[in-house]
Amino acid sequence: MQIPIFGSSREVSIVADSLARIPPATRSRLADAGLTIHIVSGGQVPGGGEGVTTSGRGVLRITLAAGAPRLAHTTLHEVGHAFDFVIGRPSEKEAWQQIYHESYRKFGFYFSHMMLKDPGELFACCCANLWADATEYRWLPAYQFIEPL
Ligand SMILES: [Zn+2]
Repeated sequence: MQIPIFGSSREVSIVADSLARIPPATRSRLADAGLTIHIVSGGQVPGGGEGVTTSGRGVLRITLAAGAPRLAHTTLHEVGHAFDFVIGRPSEKEAWQQIYHESYRKFGFYFSHMMLKDPGELFACCCANLWADATEYRWLPAYQFIEPL
């Protein structure tokens, strides 16, 4: 099962290439949960950012801004939030809260300000970095927690 992507063909292909980096089993779980991705033009993303993930009334949806300068990475980041929803919000549970605080106190050097904004952002950012193979710090507890999920 594929995750449906709606938007202009150029952007759909960027988003599809990003999704291809995600392990197939994870992609299937997201598709089975009904995730859809919508690429909208100019300023229509709720909250005004480059992307947002919403889950309401059983509808799991990612909205991406067509002009996002880092569309490929933003896609993986938002899918990280969607994955968090689909697997029962581990980012809100005790084990991840502990990892978040430890990341903040002991390993802050390895994370950006954005990543440490809150536990949910750290979760999504770590997913994106793992899927993009964009971290050399897989030994950090935050990545070790996510990798087997
Ligand atoms: Zn986020």
